[in-house]
Amino acid sequence: MEQLLSRLFGIKADKITALDGYENKNYLVESGAQKWVFKDYPFDQSLLMFLQSESEFIGFLSDKGEYPKMCLSVNGIYCEVENDRIYRLLTYVEGDLFVSINGDHSYLESLGEKIAQIHIQSKGYFDPKLLARTDNHWDIQYLETSARYINDCETAHQRKFLKYFYQQYQQKVVPIIPSLRKSVIHGDINEHNILIEKGGVKSFFDFGDIGYGPLINDLAIAVTYIGLNYENRINAISEVVQAYHKIHPLLEIELDILYNLISARLIQSLANAAHSSKLQPENKAYITVNSESAWLMIEEWTSINPIGFRNEMYIACGFDLPEVKDVELELKRREASISKALSVSDLAIESAAFQYMYAIDGKTYLDLRNNIPHVGHCHPEVVEANVKQQYRLNTNTRYVYDELSDYAENLLSHFPEELDKVFFVNSGSAAGDLALRIAQTVTGEGTVVALEQGYHGNTQRMIEVSHYKYGAKGGFDKKSDVLKVPMPWNYSVTHGGNAKDYLMSEAKKDIAGTSVGAFIAEPIVGCGGQLELPDGYLGEMYELIRSKGGLCISDEVQTGFARTGKSWWGYEAYDVIPDIVVLGKCIGNGHPMAAVVTTSGISEKFTNGMEFFSSFGGNPVSCVNGNAVLKVLKEEELKENANKVGDYLKQGLQGIAKKYKGVGVVRGSGFFLGVELVDEKDPSLPNTDLCQAVKKSMFNDQILVGSDGPADNILKIKPPMCFTMENADTFLKSFEKAFV
Ligand code: PMP
Repeated sequence: MEQLLSRLFGIKADKITALDGYENKNYLVESGAQKWVFKDYPFDQSLLMFLQSESEFIGFLSDKGEYPKMCLSVNGIYCEVENDRIYRLLTYVEGDLFVSINGDHSYLESLGEKIAQIHIQSKGYFDPKLLARTDNHWDIQYLETSARYINDCETAHQRKFLKYFYQQYQQKVVPIIPSLRKSVIHGDINEHNILIEKGGVKSFFDFGDIGYGPLINDLAIAVTYIGLNYENRINAISEVVQAYHKIHPLLEIELDILYNLISARLIQSLANAAHSSKLQPENKAYITVNSESAWLMIEEWTSINPIGFRNEMYIACGFDLPEVKDVELELKRREASISKALSVSDLAIESAAFQYMYAIDGKTYLDLRNNIPHVGHCHPEVVEANVKQQYRLNTNTRYVYDELSDYAENLLSHFPEELDKVFFVNSGSAAGDLALRIAQTVTGEGTVVALEQGYHGNTQRMIEVSHYKYGAKGGFDKKSDVLKVPMPWNYSVTHGGNAKDYLMSEAKKDIAGTSVGAFIAEPIVGCGGQLELPDGYLGEMYELIRSKGGLCISDEVQTGFARTGKSWWGYEAYDVIPDIVVLGKCIGNGHPMAAVVTTSGISEKFTNGMEFFSSFGGNPVSCVNGNAVLKVLKEEELKENANKVGDYLKQGLQGIAKKYKGVGVVRGSGFFLGVELVDEKDPSLPNTDLCQAVKKSMFNDQILVGSDGPADNILKIKPPMCFTMENADTFLKSFEKAFV
């Protein structure tokens, strides 16, 4: 190397030290008091073209600040090519690295100013050769070059964040790229490329990622690394943005996308590192040096409302905040066209991601209320499967397409052998209705046995069997072909312990003397207040119903798809196998789909000549959507997550129940839990007011949780299945706060 340096650059090196770097080799060269950085790259024609551009840009900057200077070779050029390698030499600029200041806020203002300064200095500089570099996987405008490496990330849990933010980038940034101001930018201002001195930032080096692109991308990259290295990320980012804006004003359109550009940089950092580690496993430690904090940050980024982030940036730059829609007016508008029979809260939501919902005022709400987005709001796998299929084909089951059989087989593989036929419809109500129709056709008997306080859907027949509806406000007398059996509400307390025997003896009385077409029940009665059925009850009930000629239907609309954490279907906890299973809600993660699963025998008897057809049920879009849900559940191990985090939540709640008299029984399983709020003096009495107060207090802490039960005194906990331990802690803290 000494010879090389002397031959090509005329330098007699006293000392050569290898520096870090994984895409090329860098050496610190010393000769007397002089220092240089010598760079050595494998030859590549387009790289050579780029290095020439980079060198010219460094040359352009050389008299504008304390940047490194390019050294000409003995042949009067910047880049020497020899033996399939490219060599360059730059001066070494003294200074400590920004990384050494360890999250010190006092440097942030000067960082923002220095970035603004280099942007002002670069104004007007142009090099058409840079336009040819469309494959730089560190240039945010070519994010697709990193996105193809997302699958190199190790776990599905990791990949979902990158995929989610990549989709968001495509939606929110790509369409406006043509309208953004462009410039030649540094492209990699990170803590290892920033030099500091005397309490401030001195300059930048390593111009190996310069490009011609949106100016804001440069600031976005810099603040991403600030976000990674500072405890209060958003504050630190605002400080840099504010200082930049004072010297080189930003535009609103640039601040509007900063949230997405920061996540784009995290995608690059993580996906490129995952890819490079695969190619060079021996360098994994160096390559993934930033990855741990980047994983934490990208996950945390989902908890930040993009509107809230934009507002912070607007405030930092002194822009007026866009007017927030008046929810009262929106509600009035809604009332004009939507019936008041639908209930509504006054929370206006703009978007959502996984377990977080983003309100229009910039607040983020932790969602424990919505079990429909089962694998998380806007899960990218589900969104992608759905959208891609919509581009290609959406039709109905009268045609042959693979998606139907693929999904049916996959879904049925989660059931015992005998449950081997599936009908697809598009709502839980339609599925329940169909289940009763099948039972009536097969048994010749229309009488339905259903639980007190049960809810099974909104069609006429489903309301007739849903005591929760017909037995409540606006309801009607029970129909004569519906038999109501008691639910296990507190019977163990009031009837001396054996709830099952009591419920069975009551059920026997209720059903005596009639034949039965069907028995429908949820394994954990949701609208009853997350009531588990007593051990042995379902087994004895199924026996009783079958002895009367009826079929047993398990309504798994809420409890299905591993929500209870212990098993795929709620009925499994009771050691029974239903004749018919009703699926809905979480089956499509919010896409309107539902299903009825039954045996071949029942399905054959139902096939009596009358065609069964559902315009939407089983369409290919729904099928790929449903398949994506199953894939995510498996790959992200969400059943295991519901079990682990659900147990933790339940134990935490039980601990709190011991401390406060107003907290009664905590019950349920996995992510289907209920907490009874009771009278402090007489715990056998419900405390509706307390339940509503707790809900309100948690809402003020930006936590969404529902309530139900005959006295509406039971908090219902049913978050998306990706709810984390940290989320559980947040929830428990807020819950307990409501009592102190
Ligand atoms: N069954 C149960 C147990 C439900 O909770 C619901 C919906 N809340 C339904 C059936 C009806 O489903 P959908 O609203 O999709 O018609």
